Amino acid sequence: MHNAADERTDASVVARYRGKKFGLSRKMFPGRVLNIIETLHGHGHESYIVGGGVRDLLLGCKPKDFDVATSARPEEVAGLFRRCRLIGRRFRLAHVHSAHNWREITEVATFRAFLGNGGAGSVVEDGRIVRDNTYGSLEEDILRRDFTINSMYYNPISDEIVCHGDAVADIKNRRLRSIGDSWTRYREDPVRMLRAIRFTAKLGLRMEDDVSQQIHALAPLIKDVSSARLFDETVKLFHSGAALEVYGLLKEYKLFGLLYPVADRRIVAHDDGATRERFFKALLANTDARVAGGKPVTPAFVLAALFWIGAEHLQRQVEGRHVPLSWHQAVSHAWSQQQQCVSSPRRLVAAAREICLLQKHFESRRRKHLYYVSAHPRFRAAYDFLVLRADAGLGDRAQAEWWTQFQEADNAGRRQMLHERSGGGAPRRKKRKRQPAH
Ligand code: ATP
Ligand code: MG
Repeated sequence: MHNAADERTDASVVARYRGKKFGLSRKMFPGRVLNIIETLHGHGHESYIVGGGVRDLLLGCKPKDFDVATSARPEEVAGLFRRCRLIGRRFRLAHVHSAHNWREITEVATFRAFLGNGGAGSVVEDGRIVRDNTYGSLEEDILRRDFTINSMYYNPISDEIVCHGDAVADIKNRRLRSIGDSWTRYREDPVRMLRAIRFTAKLGLRMEDDVSQQIHALAPLIKDVSSARLFDETVKLFHSGAALEVYGLLKEYKLFGLLYPVADRRIVAHDDGATRERFFKALLANTDARVAGGKPVTPAFVLAALFWIGAEHLQRQVEGRHVPLSWHQAVSHAWSQQQQCVSSPRRLVAAAREICLLQKHFESRRRKHLYYVSAHPRFRAAYDFLVLRADAGLGDRAQAEWWTQFQEADNAGRRQMLHERSGGGAPRRKKRKRQPAH
């Protein structure tokens, strides 16, 4: 196995450039991030804007967020900013919140030492990084980043870029290359395989052979990652704006089946797998279109599709016969199986279950059900889901059309439609209890 540890410890692989040469200037960064850099500099700490923010600007994309790397220790950072919280045990970080918006966070990370240099703050078990809190120099920090394109550090005060020696060429050629050898880097942290897929799909990059070959080889390691961390990472994958492409790559590298075994079995199944996959792809394309249009997206939508695909036609044995599970039981079963691999927070699971369960109500002719679904807070999401199912051939088109007309009708029209569908009669009022006679 090729071992690039020598390259990773060698600080000469680091390059320096003027930002202006690549069209960077401090004007391109938000004031809150520049303030953090200036405060840190003012107190004698080296600091840079790093990661996705710089990478995306150089690739001509809109950055999602801006991260900061500094020589200051987390406690020193916390001492300089009033709205700062220290988070993480495995990887200790400072979160600096904006003055006007608590939800706007800039991540400030202290330079880490290259793992091979040892250090009491780092724990490596069986090649995997369990904790990474040994602090080091800028050069060492560059070498412990995952991919060359993510190793661009920009100093907005001196207009200097410091980066891995291959980073500029890789940005120019839109190439995804690991820092060091991919085999070691994925074993240290298998989440890097998912990150590789996200950057490839979202930024239109080409993976270096070693990046893709080692994902093929090491995909099963993803099972060692905590289900909560996988949840965070998969949300980033599905909300990247390139979810359809991400799905193709997850399937290609056999990661989809490791993350979502229940849904995957139903997608590869002979009976109606192709239809289920068509539905899932349509739902991902719909999510991509919403991201592109700046519309809000919720992970509950993709989660609902995974439950739906997993739950459909689930059966149980009763006295030697196959009997379909009730829809409630089937969705619960699909959910409990799924939760073992990628665990989603309760409120999202509840929302996803509701979207699934409302699908059955859409088919109903019972007045009670119709009024329930039409007034439900998740009506719109469940309706979008119904239309996607129908378009993919995984639902009744006539039902979807009826509900589309319902969507387009005014209040009086809706009342009339519900009235006709449920066989007439106004929605029944609750009977008042008669007063007992004295
Ligand atoms: P995004 O656009 O999603 O924010 P990003 O590259 O900035 O992409 P972050 O998760 O914000 O991703 O991480 C910031 C930087 O930290 C990365 O660019 C990379 O240099 C480094 N990094 C993050 N996760 C890892 C990891 N698992 N292994 C090594 N380096 C990492
Ligand atoms: Mg980032």
